[in-house]
Amino acid sequence: MSASSFPDPGPWPRLGYVHSPLDRAAHLRRDWEALLDRPDARLYLLGGEFVAAKPAGDALDPLFTRAETLAHGTGTPVFLGLSEGAPRFGLRFDPGRREEMETAGLFVSDLRSIATQGLLPPEHLGPLACAKALNAWHGRHRFCANCGQESGMIEGGWRRDCPGCGAQHFPRTDPVVIMLATRGDLCLMGRQAHFAPGMWSALAGFVEPGETAEEAVRREVLEEAGVKVGAVTYQTCQPWPFPMSLMIGFLAEAEGADLVIDRSELEDARWFTRHETALMLARTHPDGLFTPPPVAIAHHLIRAFVVGEDAPKG
Ligand SMILES: [Zn+2]
Repeated sequence: MSASSFPDPGPWPRLGYVHSPLDRAAHLRRDWEALLDRPDARLYLLGGEFVAAKPAGDALDPLFTRAETLAHGTGTPVFLGLSEGAPRFGLRFDPGRREEMETAGLFVSDLRSIATQGLLPPEHLGPLACAKALNAWHGRHRFCANCGQESGMIEGGWRRDCPGCGAQHFPRTDPVVIMLATRGDLCLMGRQAHFAPGMWSALAGFVEPGETAEEAVRREVLEEAGVKVGAVTYQTCQPWPFPMSLMIGFLAEAEGADLVIDRSELEDARWFTRHETALMLARTHPDGLFTPPPVAIAHHLIRAFVVGEDAPKG
């Protein structure tokens, strides 16, 4: 079937958490307290998966003054950087207080819905991803992994130092490979049990110590679907703050078509034709099957296969 018979997928959409407008200004991290005192300082409010925003006319504004955060925020803010010279921070709130905050007139929603449904202007997604990942790291790394003593946040949240053994701990990002294996006019997609009914996506997995991203692609496709992969081509990447990953996207050439599915990882996996995949991308598949939205890197890998060109780099 020729490409001309596919639904036109239109121009490349924006990927979710890329192109942050913030200058990270790492040289200012020690001065975070003075920056927080500035009248142009603004804070994002995040609690677990949730983000708060305030009504601003017909839109929503996720940036709060320090005074506005006093009733809701908790703990020490993390310094995210500068936006057109103005300091930006992330501050935690207790997600158990969501209803109370909503009663006080705030809008509260989870970051996935905010990104998928475009509930906030897209330029906030990068800073929110940064703040969410940093807050998640601090929440899970209060104690020194070397000696067990409670560590302290310094450098505006970009390091924790241990008073017991002197170890320095830095926020981590976990690399994940996500890949669409293809074989001629076919691509391989899988379903995890927690996916929405009808959604199929690219396979993915964590990069393990001692392997390259390309080796991780080959290992994951073999482990999850029993398919050997040859050439692996980098496409694009993006931060994925659930809780703190970097998703690195590839197309991968399969060397065989027989599937041996690891049912502990995948509910199902199968090959799809380019035409069927195009219908899923356009959300016009006759059986209601579909692929992830543009905020997810899987969408861009699937689109790259459908249109036959590389995804734009992040
Ligand atoms: Zn220690």
